[in-house]
Amino acid sequence: MIQPIIADNIVERLRALINGVKNIVITCHLSPDGDAIGSSLALCHVLHRLGKNAIVVTPDMIPKSLAFLPDMRDVVVYTKTELRARYMVEHAQLIFCLDFNDMHRIDKLGELIMLQQAPRVLIDHHLNPSNVFDLKISFPQLSSTCELLYRVFLQLHMLNLIDHYAAMCLLVGMMTDTGNFTYGCNNPDLYEIQASLMRRHIDRQWLYNMAMNTFSADSLRLQGYALSEKMQLFPDKHAALLTLTQDELKRFNYRKGDTEGLVNKPLSVPGIDWVVFFRQDPEYVKVSCRSRGDFSVNEICNNYFNGGGHVNAAGGEFYGTIEQAVDVFMRILEQVEYPENDNSQH
Ligand code: 5GP
Ligand code: MN
Repeated sequence: MIQPIIADNIVERLRALINGVKNIVITCHLSPDGDAIGSSLALCHVLHRLGKNAIVVTPDMIPKSLAFLPDMRDVVVYTKTELRARYMVEHAQLIFCLDFNDMHRIDKLGELIMLQQAPRVLIDHHLNPSNVFDLKISFPQLSSTCELLYRVFLQLHMLNLIDHYAAMCLLVGMMTDTGNFTYGCNNPDLYEIQASLMRRHIDRQWLYNMAMNTFSADSLRLQGYALSEKMQLFPDKHAALLTLTQDELKRFNYRKGDTEGLVNKPLSVPGIDWVVFFRQDPEYVKVSCRSRGDFSVNEICNNYFNGGGHVNAAGGEFYGTIEQAVDVFMRILEQVEYPENDNSQH
């Protein structure tokens, strides 16, 4: 039996907010991943079944790899159709913010939302949520926003509104944020939730292949190249560094999403407990970090890379060259203190 974790008064406030409105906007973080878009679409489906005018507005484009999810064509992308996005936000009576903890994570769309009177409801699992939300449902100990959203539906007694499509979206978020249940995956509740979703006639094998196991040949070659030629290990600091320059990305016809999952790979080397990956994007160096155990990459991204996330998975942006980013990494490396005993979970 899954125990309730959200306080009753919060659940009742949420119920009252939903009951009192017709027009609802749902938004999620920049470069939406499976959890961000999965939770947004699942909530949208359930709100439609409640008779609401709900719509998902994303701050930027959704990766092609998630285009198979149902109703993706109804999503309004701010950077593509700004006027329509503006209209939706300005006419919203309630705004849900899913899978992010602060308005700067949604860029210009955040500025627009901050100008509105409509109450803002946060449903999220990132550390340190900011204080700009009228109702905060924040559980950083949970492994995905989709898991949290399932718990919200459970406590609202709305599980009957989760149909096949909503179940598919929720399962995608739970799978992608846990690496298909390989990290952040020790809570038995996860498997009860998964079983409940599976009863909505999910083809899990197909879903896994669509969401997590589809890569172009170029992308596989790029990842192979990165691991073979561009991975540095620092065993005494339990660290690994990956870098990819613009030229290298071009050489492999890089498309958004092609390096998905790459940053996790060095963690499979025994003794490596944290990884930093720098990718030279057109505007900045995109930083992506992973760790295991108590080593907090959230702090690293917070302190050095204008970012954040979770203890074991975080990201950020570095404004400078990739060489300068590597210099910063080397400084961090000098500063980290590692306990004598082996922290490795292998
Ligand atoms: P990824 O490495 O997969 O891009 O991101 C891992 C985690 O870090 C995700 O939970 C994501 O929300 C967070 N994250 C990624 N990039 C940024 C960023 O630029 N700023 C902040 N605050 N969080 C980020
Ligand atoms: Mn998430």
